[in-house]
Amino acid sequence: MSTHLVWFRRDLRLHDNLALAAACRHRAAHVVALFISTPEQWKNHVMSPRQAAFIQAQLNALQQALAEKGIPLLFEEVDDFAGSIETVKAVCEQHDVSHLFYNYQYEVNERERDAAVEKALPHVVCEGFDDSVILPPGAVTTGNHEMYKVFTPFKNAWLKRLKEGMPECVSAPARRENGSVSSALVPINLHYPQQEFDPALFPAEEKAAIARLRQFCQQGAGEYDECRDFPAIEGTSRLSASLATGGLSPRQCLHRLLAEQPQALDGGAGSVWLNELIWREFYRHLMTYHPNLCKHRPFILWTDRVRWRDRAEDLQAWQEGRTGYPIVDAAMRQLNATGWMHNRLRMIAASFLVKDLLIDCRKGERYFMSQLIDGDLAANNGGWQWAASTGTDAAPYFRIFNPTTQGEKFDREGEFIRRWIPELSHVPGKAIHEPWKWAMKESITLDYPQPIVDHKLARQQTLAAYEAARKN
Ligand code: FAD
Repeated sequence: MSTHLVWFRRDLRLHDNLALAAACRHRAAHVVALFISTPEQWKNHVMSPRQAAFIQAQLNALQQALAEKGIPLLFEEVDDFAGSIETVKAVCEQHDVSHLFYNYQYEVNERERDAAVEKALPHVVCEGFDDSVILPPGAVTTGNHEMYKVFTPFKNAWLKRLKEGMPECVSAPARRENGSVSSALVPINLHYPQQEFDPALFPAEEKAAIARLRQFCQQGAGEYDECRDFPAIEGTSRLSASLATGGLSPRQCLHRLLAEQPQALDGGAGSVWLNELIWREFYRHLMTYHPNLCKHRPFILWTDRVRWRDRAEDLQAWQEGRTGYPIVDAAMRQLNATGWMHNRLRMIAASFLVKDLLIDCRKGERYFMSQLIDGDLAANNGGWQWAASTGTDAAPYFRIFNPTTQGEKFDREGEFIRRWIPELSHVPGKAIHEPWKWAMKESITLDYPQPIVDHKLARQQTLAAYEAARKN
């Protein structure tokens, strides 16, 4: 009897898991699953303790769910990718594995690791799958078979391609008649720092994540367009952690959306949420075509010559939510307290770090990764490069967010700011967006910092720094 090994990585689910479904397709095969934890690797890539806790919870749920299907989950811990290669080899020898199934990861180190694993297993049939995207990298290209450099034409081509052939979801595997799993499961513990997360907001169990997706597509997706930019309301899905770790697949999101909002593909209700899934695909495709993005090189090369001011005390004030700009500080405090930040705020906080404090966006990118429960190299890198104008944003570098007007526009009454900055709760109405002006007028001393930079001046300095780099 042949033995099929499924190597789980960022695909911690049973439903619509292409590698798992393929491994289970042959009824007679014996199926074994494997997860390898790589704490040293995670440390280098600054995986956040919240994401580690989330993955640990997902793994324990997955172990239980696999056991119910008669599939044992082996758990190994090694330092890094070299250790992973040895481990897969050893597991294949030990279990006399004939076939290895895994879902692709598109980051450059992961791709090199997978190539090395396949090379190390000349007698095992290895099969990889494009599981973490709806359309695989390479499927959406320009007439010259190149990757698009801006989002909108990519999106149009993506939608056209999707309508030509929609990838289906595959079912969770049936219970295996020949499966054997010990009845007492040993809990999986990752040897990596962990920090608590709120399971009501970030469901680690697959069933709960699917239920959240269904609920959002029924209720939130149709109103997403009007609600998504206002951080004081729950206007977005909060499914990013599940998508980043593979607790849900993007195909599941697409099919559930179309089931609840059938007009989403044609610009009707739900189409703006679909756009976000396409952004996710865009950055994954981009990273595959431009592996240098994984090495944190800018997409627009001349921006590497910008002379950053990089003041350590400014970086610290930003990280701690003490810049004196309420919307930026509230955003950073939300991130530090929960491991998640609203998308509009990610744009504002990132723009402030780069374009007001003139700090290299890679420092912000790294800090986000160290805190985010949904940390994802492609999306985070894409978002930071977008905000810093070093990436694929169609708007040029001189588009600079004004942190005060952004607050006035997207948190008009200051509801979100008051939630996260209790020191400002007594500042009345819209004065909350410039509390220093109100405090001066009222002759009051606030327990809240003065702005650490003057936005107007900072803007001029940033424009000059970018201009000098461009001309160099
Ligand atoms: P929804 O608005 O409900 O969107 C649905 C899903 O679409 C998200 O869960 C996510 O998977 C995807 N998505 C939405 N917007 C984007 C986008 N702009 N780019 C790529 N995918 C998107 N997203 C991450 O998943 N991980 C990150 O590390 C990350 N870092 C970011 C850093 C910056 C500076 C910026 C500007 C954006 C970043 N994003 C990141 C994208 C976006 O902010 C989050 O995906 C979103 O806020 C997650 O909340 P949600 O699940 O409620 O999203």
